[in-house]
Amino acid sequence: MSYDYDLFVIGGGSGGVRAGRVASQAGAKVGLAEEHRYGGTCVIRGCVPKKLMVYASQFSEHFEDAVGFGWTVGDQSFNWARFMAAKNAEIDRLEGIYAKNLKAAGVTLYDARAIVTGPHEVTLSSDQVITAKTILVATGGWPFVPDIPGKELAITSNEVFLLPEQPQRVLVVGGGYIASEFAGILNGMGTETTQFYRSEQILRGFDNEVRDHVAEEMRNKGVDLRVNTDVASLSKTDTGILVTDTAGDTFEVDQVLYATGRVPNTKGLGLEDVGVELGRKGEVKVDAYSATSVPSIYAVGDVTDRVALTPVAIREGMAFVETVFKDNPTSPDHDLIPTAVFTQPEIGTVGMGEEEARESEEIEVYSAAFRPMMHILAGKDEKMLMKLIVSKATRKVLGCHIVGHGAGEMIQLAGVAVKMGATKEDFDRTVAVHPTAAEELVTMSTPTR
Ligand code: FAD
Ligand code: NDP
Repeated sequence: MSYDYDLFVIGGGSGGVRAGRVASQAGAKVGLAEEHRYGGTCVIRGCVPKKLMVYASQFSEHFEDAVGFGWTVGDQSFNWARFMAAKNAEIDRLEGIYAKNLKAAGVTLYDARAIVTGPHEVTLSSDQVITAKTILVATGGWPFVPDIPGKELAITSNEVFLLPEQPQRVLVVGGGYIASEFAGILNGMGTETTQFYRSEQILRGFDNEVRDHVAEEMRNKGVDLRVNTDVASLSKTDTGILVTDTAGDTFEVDQVLYATGRVPNTKGLGLEDVGVELGRKGEVKVDAYSATSVPSIYAVGDVTDRVALTPVAIREGMAFVETVFKDNPTSPDHDLIPTAVFTQPEIGTVGMGEEEARESEEIEVYSAAFRPMMHILAGKDEKMLMKLIVSKATRKVLGCHIVGHGAGEMIQLAGVAVKMGATKEDFDRTVAVHPTAAEELVTMSTPTR
């Protein structure tokens, strides 16, 4: 049987764009549907605009620090509208590049919503029916907001990038990546920021010492972080939104940003009707090669609810192309993924945290919290944290955790060493780079625990 395409990709985000482009370059005839904007969550309403906001928000501290280094800094103010215009222009530019690169690779683009109507068939919102030998579902995720009274008054990360005005007072709900990053961003931009987290400590899943360190420094920087607290209800007032918390206390804000997780984007996609098995959260169930329960349909990225990070979606997309179009079955490697959380201070981490490692074997912990040189003349007490978790039996570094300026940049490189199986002694025999904060990683000589 002949099909319109060898591959039809649903979703022009991180995973779909990469898979579509590489498959086309490998000789496949590829079509791709995107219902919103090319680049997907990461480029349009995720990593990229978020990082630009992180940069924008850090200037308030840079101005403060500069005084300690002899600078006289005049009056400062942040112009939200001017920043948003610059940010939007950059996102438009990047979106254009994504679409251009796809077309240049020979991919046919459809600016439409696509749903799956058969094992080899998709139907577009324009009613056009398209057949394909293989279908790749790369539809990403969508913010989840729990059912609370007044839910409709809250915004999510989708809307925060489009607010016409800077909120003067904000409540951020959640303690994960997005909530903790945005609490720092808005606080740095001068918004009075409160963050609610429902349990003991933010950033569940990370090393406990890292979590405590970040939470304390966030508070020192001005975020009113309240743990063991949740929203009971939201209601509209003449001047804003009235928040009632679970203890019955009330206060007013201009915006409430919910960042309480994301759910796989499979609603109304037609997958179950054609026999694709979905999990409890609606995620597409896949095997190690990203194949679904229907042999002609694959899925990559956030929609599979494996590891929701852009470089992971890209890797999964490339492994899919190797498997299906290059006759080289390849399973994406989800082991030892380095990651950064752009909180303020920033986290860089790879491998196991202390608690997780301790459960699996005997370990040594090397941990140092110190005031980096940059903070001394600036008159800041803020500390950096460097931590290595080492296996007693093999001496391998099982985890590396960094909190502080440049942590994301550092962990990319430390990640190479950990991925290669470096031992503590390999770290030790590497000469320090002086004067840097990173040198602490190769000079911690005595185990802390
Ligand atoms: P997406 O990028 O979400 O792409 C899916 C695309 O499919 C979308 O463009 C959507 O419009 C389209 N689509 C959906 N349904 C249909 C349909 N039926 N028909 C046609 N098109 C459809 N990751 C990092 O690694 N680093 C970060 O710093 C980072 N920051 C983030 C910040 C925020 C606020 C958020 C929300 C996420 C962040 N992420 C970050 C996560 C990252 O954005 C995602 O892991 C990544 O975008 C997933 O890629 P994907 O291809 O699976 O899906
Ligand atoms: P996360 O899963 O990281 O965090 C969700 C948070 O919301 C958790 O603190 C969770 O609490 C809390 N929560 C969940 N349900 C409720 C509820 N019903 N009521 C109150 N609180 C609730 O999700 P995010 O939305 O922050 O981000 C999604 C994913 O996107 C991340 O996991 C990450 O993979 C990716 N991302 C990556 C970034 C990066 O690489 N820098 C940046 C941003 C996003 P609890 O812990 O108790 O379950």
